[in-house]
Amino acid sequence: MKARIAVLAGDGVGREIVPEAVKVLKTVAERYGHSFEFVAGDVGGHAIDNVGLPLPQETLSIAKQSDAVLLGAVGGPKWEGLEYSLRPERALLGLREQLGLYANLRPAKLYPMLADASTLRREVIEGIDMLVIRELTGGIYFGKPKGIEQLPGGGERGFNTEVYTTDEIRRIAVVAFEAARKRRKQVTSVDKANVLESSELWRRVVTDVQKDYADVTLNHIYVDNCAMQLVRNPRQFDVLLCNNIFGDILSDEAAMLTGSIGMLPSASIGSKVGLFEPIHGSAPDIAGKNLANPIATIASAAMMLSYAFRLDKESQAVERAIVTTLELGLRTKDIHAAGMRLVGTAEMGDAIVHNLPS
Ligand code: NAD
Repeated sequence: MKARIAVLAGDGVGREIVPEAVKVLKTVAERYGHSFEFVAGDVGGHAIDNVGLPLPQETLSIAKQSDAVLLGAVGGPKWEGLEYSLRPERALLGLREQLGLYANLRPAKLYPMLADASTLRREVIEGIDMLVIRELTGGIYFGKPKGIEQLPGGGERGFNTEVYTTDEIRRIAVVAFEAARKRRKQVTSVDKANVLESSELWRRVVTDVQKDYADVTLNHIYVDNCAMQLVRNPRQFDVLLCNNIFGDILSDEAAMLTGSIGMLPSASIGSKVGLFEPIHGSAPDIAGKNLANPIATIASAAMMLSYAFRLDKESQAVERAIVTTLELGLRTKDIHAAGMRLVGTAEMGDAIVHNLPS
């Protein structure tokens, strides 16, 4: 297949890890007979330095005209003093909005050889392999009315509105059921239907969508119970379907079950172009030192192959190459342990390329 990929490395370690993921994608294209065209664009602090804006029009056009976007990270101390609307992080909101990215997918999978990096006991986390799906453009973060108002008798009142329409729930539920079909075919929908009317509708619509997915099982869980189950018995979950605020919180909880932030990929998808990026930031403390772990970004590229291009075989090959490389004992500093071979960013990327099936 032919695909055009926008490459937005951004700032800090973004500039080191993204080239490693591009190397992997180029090798996949060669080995499997695909043609990937890479088009680079400025984003974040680098774009501010070059053209004065975190998300220049040219970058947005590159993203919109691509089949998928690979993003590194944005931000850093250099730009922290800027007015909020000009900060590098605004680029992320702009991309989400302009690309209509309504679903955020974050896998949390334990690599067995890294079990000791987790704060939980090995027997609790062994075998974790879940995907948290978070609705990204609706709910309480965007619902109106919202604000802070003065009360006549003194004091103030702050308020937000949790709101979801049938269509918004339906489209995110479809993402969850489709994703479950590629996995263990089990969706757990998170809500607070015992208290919130918006959750009552959420539960009703998700139940209705499931009728089109008879091969996928569905169960519902209250968000407070889900938070407990994630640390009690996380293996029970396959796909966790969440609204915006519950997903925001639970995806961080799920991610931390499995250890280092340098290992965790994500995908944001909408009606057209998807965006694939590690969940971590620009890590200014280690930037430019060949210390960053590129695996989160390479695993994001694997998600791109599967979710944007439907190249499941190629995606699995990249994931296997990551596992093989870890099994061989290579570790960047963030996941290093006694007896393992300490490598830099580029060496880890090269090893993963080397371990791709030929
Ligand atoms: P961070 O994720 O950049 O770093 C947190 C810690 O994790 C640091 O100690 C860092 O060294 C380590 N770390 C992160 N990625 C790593 C990797 N690949 N390999 C090894 N170690 C890694 O979070 P922060 O320090 O809070 O934020 C730094 C900057 O990044 C800020 O400007 C912030 O706004 C921005 N940020 C951007 C994104 C994004 O682009 N999506 C996300 C979060 C934060």
